[in-house]
Amino acid sequence: MPIYEYLCPNCKTKVEIMASLKDKDRGLKPVCPRCGNKNMVRVFGGFAIGSTRGSSFGSSCGPGAGSGCCG
Ligand SMILES: [Zn+2]
Repeated sequence: MPIYEYLCPNCKTKVEIMASLKDKDRGLKPVCPRCGNKNMVRVFGGFAIGSTRGSSFGSSCGPGAGSGCCG
């Protein structure tokens, strides 16, 4: 099942909607979970908005992280 990404132009919140083509054909009505905006804008893969990704991913690994970490 394809995933459609929508961006709220109001608060820049991005949501992922999983829907079949039939559901999409009937019209998706995504609502922003943050501000409740119903006018979500469809975004496509690879379209980067902002640069907040990969800030502290995997920060739990390292010295003193304990056993069972990092393989
Ligand atoms: Zn919003």
